[in-house]
Amino acid sequence: MNIILLGPQGSGKGTQATLLSGKMQLPKISTGDLLREIAQGKTPLGEKIKSYQSKGLLVPDGIVIEVIKGRIQRKDCKNGFILEGFPRTLMQAEHLGKITAIDKVVLLKISDAEAVSRLSTRRQCKKCNAIYSLNNIEGNKCAKCGSDLYQREDDKPGAIKKRLQLYKKETEPLIKYYGKRIVEIDGSKPVENVLNDILKKLGA
Ligand code: AMP
Repeated sequence: MNIILLGPQGSGKGTQATLLSGKMQLPKISTGDLLREIAQGKTPLGEKIKSYQSKGLLVPDGIVIEVIKGRIQRKDCKNGFILEGFPRTLMQAEHLGKITAIDKVVLLKISDAEAVSRLSTRRQCKKCNAIYSLNNIEGNKCAKCGSDLYQREDDKPGAIKKRLQLYKKETEPLIKYYGKRIVEIDGSKPVENVLNDILKKLGA
């Protein structure tokens, strides 16, 4: 099964993609994580990606599509995958449709106020990318691997506003594009409830 997780920043796509990946034995593919990894290298491409990511802007379609193409062609995707953070534009969705078929698109719905509140308290592990909320942690270390947690540049107030505007303009049109393949989920519930709702609606 090829699945996409769609929803505004802070709706829990990353968290749910990780949980679903474990339950369904399918790889989680996060373009945000893949691009951040490339951005850490001191290459011209890395610097370019970093300049977009740090401002909360979308990385150009051409770059992201190449990254995702390479990833989806790897062996571990032969039984399916869970895409998180891709596609984010109609052009990306059209390219994806040419590479592979998408079965279901899980749409995680939350209010703007909830999204802003979640993003501004979010912390991420520098090493394994695990996601935490300041409301649920003590100290600054990852509970999974012990590495330091950090606040992403694009989780700071100026960039958050821009990212939510971009979501509405560039990504929301995908809801119509995927039509009957969309599965709507209330993303404001606790993590475990959201996961159960998704599994139920996917029949997994
Ligand atoms: P995320 O971790 O999904 O919030 O993504 C963080 C940042 O990575 C975004 O603000 C963009 O700069 C970039 N990015 C991730 N996925 C995409 C995508 N599909 N298209 C363009 N830029 C992306």
